[in-house]
Amino acid sequence: MKRNCSLDEISDGKLYGLNDMVKLGCNDCEGCSACCRGMGASILLDPYDIFQLSLNLNTSFQALLEERQVIELNVVEGLILPNIKLTGALEQCPFLNEQGRCSIHAFRPGFCRLFPLGRYYEDGGFHYILQIHECTKENKTKIKIRKWIGYPNMSSYDRYVNEWHYFLLDMGNSLTEEKKKAFNLYLLNTFFINIYDTNVDFFTQFAARLEEARRILLA
Ligand code: SF4
Ligand code: SF4
Repeated sequence: MKRNCSLDEISDGKLYGLNDMVKLGCNDCEGCSACCRGMGASILLDPYDIFQLSLNLNTSFQALLEERQVIELNVVEGLILPNIKLTGALEQCPFLNEQGRCSIHAFRPGFCRLFPLGRYYEDGGFHYILQIHECTKENKTKIKIRKWIGYPNMSSYDRYVNEWHYFLLDMGNSLTEEKKKAFNLYLLNTFFINIYDTNVDFFTQFAARLEEARRILLA
């Protein structure tokens, strides 16, 4: 999601990579679940998030949307994308348990893993940034970004995140409003609804779908 503000307004002004140490450690969020509430529709889900949720909850995209009602669809910069559907008066994530802990911690979405980091995209790539107004815990300890996000295959994951971002950007910029309608259906079907083979590396399957999508859509 694009934000119209300068880096200095929202971050410490530095650009980071996976191996940089950043003050993020917040004692395992003990006693706090502030960023699991009141986040509106901002907890966007990408294909890897839906793959992880479907695999670990033994369900499907449609079931998450319709039966469990833990995700919803919203328009983001002209494209229809899923996000976690917050509920109740406190606008709370449905995966937050009674103890104020994340019940899907091991397979929580990339957005949650990243927080309070953000990404600054430029020149076909991105850097990590530390957003300074997002997490109010004090006395944070330094931790490597690679460990903070915590996927076992971080290089593949970063490559995938970058490809997904620039694909959505290209499609948002290049398609007419009329074509976007048809594209949105294609996008949901190709990357979210059509099941990924759990015996094959996700990122390899995603790359093949992306290549095909670019070929079809830019033809
Ligand atoms: S606001 Fe900070 S300390 Fe609180 S749950 Fe989020 S990341 Fe953890
Ligand atoms: S998925 Fe977990 S970490 Fe993310 S908002 Fe929900 S409860 Fe919080």
